[in-house]
Amino acid sequence: MYPIVFSDLDGTLLDAETYDYGVSLPAVKALEKHGVPLILCSAKTRSEIKFYQHVFGINHPFIVENGGATVIPRNYFAFPIEDGRESEGYVDIEHGERIEMIRWKIEGALRDSRVRYKLFTQMTAEEISEDSGLPLHEADLTRRREYSETVKLEGDQVELQRAIRSIDSAGLTYVFGGRYLTISAGNSKGTGVRRLRQLYARAFRNVTTYAFGDEENDLSMFQEVDKAILVQKPNGSWASMNPSNLVKVHGIGPNGFRKGVENELGVAVGDG
Ligand SMILES: [Mg+2]
Repeated sequence: MYPIVFSDLDGTLLDAETYDYGVSLPAVKALEKHGVPLILCSAKTRSEIKFYQHVFGINHPFIVENGGATVIPRNYFAFPIEDGRESEGYVDIEHGERIEMIRWKIEGALRDSRVRYKLFTQMTAEEISEDSGLPLHEADLTRRREYSETVKLEGDQVELQRAIRSIDSAGLTYVFGGRYLTISAGNSKGTGVRRLRQLYARAFRNVTTYAFGDEENDLSMFQEVDKAILVQKPNGSWASMNPSNLVKVHGIGPNGFRKGVENELGVAVGDG
């Protein structure tokens, strides 16, 4: 059996509030040492995920922008990827609509709305950093979106509800993250996970897949793996969901990740 691990970043590998990864890093290193691929699967952009891959010292495929695309290092698999598109040392498999189309649809949906809105791609890194609390260099990376747009909406409840209904009717999908709406079209984390699971199965035959997450938007990822591991939120609660393969681990964010690696995968984690 060949284990493959998928994991969310914010609130799972990274602390939900400080983005710190000191606790999860030794577990990531332990997986790498045991030859277990760790696939980062996040709402984050290609630039952001590449940054964390560098920090973690890994070079496996990854899934960007909630399944907008699956990005595979060139020659990672020994066979060609028919539906892949070459891009700077990687092969991309695109699942979602591209941002130009999404932005056009959002603007159409909100044209007659009275909510004030700002698109992340139209804000400066300084503005995003100030607004979200993200460090400046990360705010800059999060602006470089390809398959989703983050929108900051402001207005009264009635207007906000109406705006969200318009976005919905425009055929867009949205995920709430804090005070922001991340909008995409035609993709979910699960789409990327399913595609990679097929590729790994073709490469290694017998694979066992695991996924780590902390929130409702990880459900589509959980539904595509053998074992889903849900870590605790900062207040000690678990996201409300109940797929049959779910294990709720006692441990908040990165602590839960670490515990899951030890208990569910049986990989001993050192001190780093
Ligand atoms: Mg998360």
